Amino acid sequence: MNLIVQKFGGTSVKDAQRIQNVAQIVTDTYQQGNNVVVVVSAQGDTTDDLIAKAKEINPKASKREMDVLLSTGEQISMSLLAMAIEKMGYPVVSLTGWQAGMLTDSTYGSARLRRLNKERVDVELDKRNIVVVAGFQGINRYDDITTLGRGGSDTSAVALAAALHADLCQIYTDVDGVYTADPRLVPNAHKLSEITYDEMLELASLGAGVLHNRSVEMAKKYHVNLEVLSSYTKNPGTKVKEVVKEVEKMLIRGVTRDNDVARISIMGVPDQPGIAFKIFSHLASKKVNVDLILQSIGRDNTKDISFTVSRSHKQISLEVMEELNEQLSGSGIVCDDNVSKVSIVGAGMQTNPGVASKMFEALAEAGINIQMISTSEIKISVLVALEDSDRAVKSIHEAFDL
Ligand code: ADP
Ligand code: ASP
Ligand code: MG
Repeated sequence: MNLIVQKFGGTSVKDAQRIQNVAQIVTDTYQQGNNVVVVVSAQGDTTDDLIAKAKEINPKASKREMDVLLSTGEQISMSLLAMAIEKMGYPVVSLTGWQAGMLTDSTYGSARLRRLNKERVDVELDKRNIVVVAGFQGINRYDDITTLGRGGSDTSAVALAAALHADLCQIYTDVDGVYTADPRLVPNAHKLSEITYDEMLELASLGAGVLHNRSVEMAKKYHVNLEVLSSYTKNPGTKVKEVVKEVEKMLIRGVTRDNDVARISIMGVPDQPGIAFKIFSHLASKKVNVDLILQSIGRDNTKDISFTVSRSHKQISLEVMEELNEQLSGSGIVCDDNVSKVSIVGAGMQTNPGVASKMFEALAEAGINIQMISTSEIKISVLVALEDSDRAVKSIHEAFDL
């Protein structure tokens, strides 16, 4: 008997009709003789609505209380789905994150899974129950509820698949696979039948929200057989795996963008050893993750240093930089959050010169200015103005003929 983990995102469970559709997919899988563990997200925009509700009461609510609130969204979905399955006459039980043994660290709002205590799920599976688990949530060592960060239900599903040694982990969503770009932004993007863990991890980390990046990290680590597919159609989806067939080897696998970026610059600091160390060690001590970095060539014994952070780290970064600006007698701080990071990803670029120039040519032809650049073996990212972001993705996608 095979064990299959199936995860359904917010759109897939948004109303009674969609829940019944999910119940059909799940029970079909069960009836074929498989054990089934189902992971659900909150319905539709529930998580956003809950955040808005909290803001009305207390815009500075503690992260702990936010997690208590946000975890309720997934609990609504899990019980409604269990009721739909029950009505169809199948044995089913719904479990919260803690009942399913999801033990996390204590970083409320973006907790990491530490361990999965799978006893309860095993007991239910032994009884041949369909097990429905609330995604996105866990419990820390103080018995407090935690959440795994936006989009975290994917990670709950992959973690269960890894711990239970599932034969397959299916991520059902509102698109029928991973595309060469967000199909809502680039309508002629095409679906990939396969993608490697490494490429998917880059795409997810660089803004392709179709999979939570930690879910891909975990799938790679534990060799989870992962598939992204639609709960709306029966089209074959995208397989995420260690190696893909030679014929699929493309230069570039996809284009993506991330608008959750702010650029901060400190101007006119001394052009001498130790300055970059001072700036970035101060930011690190405040747990700020710095992404792109650019340092100008020294002129008149001074230089400028720019870097990007996520918007949630903007305020704390500005506070740190104001302090350093004074200490280092800099000439000021500039901050811009109307920016977007546009990236291309593909293992094929390692061995192909000219990929960067092709990307830059596409941007030049579209009249788009590049503010910062960063490259690695399998990706190139550029920072552009937010207003240019859509056009940048489209023109790069076209230039590479994806
Ligand atoms: P779910 O609620 O099912 O988790 P998400 O909204 O988190 O769904 O993820 C699915 C969305 O990801 C799609 O609707 C699509 O707009 C977006 N997306 C971004 N980049 C890509 C990509 N490269 N391929 C497919 N979908 C993408
Ligand atoms: N409901 C959560 C969110 O909206 C988790 C998820 O959908 O994966 O981010
Ligand atoms: Mg998602």
